[in-house]
Amino acid sequence: MAFEVPALTFAHDALEPFINTRTMELHHGLHHGAYVAKFNAAIEGTDLESKTAEEIVSNLDAVPENIRGAVRNNGGGHVNHSIFWSIMGPGKGGEPTGELGEAINSTFGSFENLKETFNGKGATQFGSGWVWLTMTPEGRLEIVSTPNQDTPMSQGHKIIMGNDVWEHAYYLTYENRRPEYLKAWWSCVDFDAVAARFAAAKS
Ligand code: MN
Repeated sequence: MAFEVPALTFAHDALEPFINTRTMELHHGLHHGAYVAKFNAAIEGTDLESKTAEEIVSNLDAVPENIRGAVRNNGGGHVNHSIFWSIMGPGKGGEPTGELGEAINSTFGSFENLKETFNGKGATQFGSGWVWLTMTPEGRLEIVSTPNQDTPMSQGHKIIMGNDVWEHAYYLTYENRRPEYLKAWWSCVDFDAVAARFAAAKS
């Protein structure tokens, strides 16, 4: 079955004022929709149709060379955005607790330090891309950025959470003030969903 944009679990206007309604309509519907359409077109008629999107982008070497670029960009766009929608929600924010909170404190010193490093990497990612909290293949928490729609999954990382720093993610709300968006975005993060990703990554 062809890939589809997952439905949001909240309304387009639910993340106001941090992310405005029009941004969510365009970003979820048009931008993510375009990645999915191009990803499906690229893999149509190939063996990749029987795999999950995560399996495909985790092993780009196995993708035929003539479609590898399209799969990297659009398959990456699909998996990155699917995770992004799933770790946000209205009335969220706060701080990670439990095992995730402990792992963050032992790796980064504090949640405040994590946010500072994460926002810094997001702000200095030149051009379009993403900033992530991942689990490395060795099982360590790490903050990394990726250009374009490259996903850390292609490097064997498991994604715990990530923020989209493409202009389409924030320009209508913040214009060119990416650092302001990065700061405000934490109020949208669903730490229960993030903790579930962390637990799954560890197992
Ligand atoms: Mn995006």
